[in-house]
Amino acid sequence: MSYFYCDTCRYCFSANALPDRCLDCGAQTYKGKPAVHLASNDEIDELLRIQAEDAKISK
Ligand SMILES: [Zn+2]
Repeated sequence: MSYFYCDTCRYCFSANALPDRCLDCGAQTYKGKPAVHLASNDEIDELLRIQAEDAKISK
């Protein structure tokens, strides 16, 4: 499992393999480059922080 990040909509998600398009907005390219790339550590931290906040809200 790896984390990926979409530059088009700034959506971060986990998947087993790099998808050819964003799972959220469907973008394949952004400014001439692949829209989806491996998330950086900062982007993963942000995703985990958001998920933790979502978990708190749903309780
Ligand atoms: Zn996207």
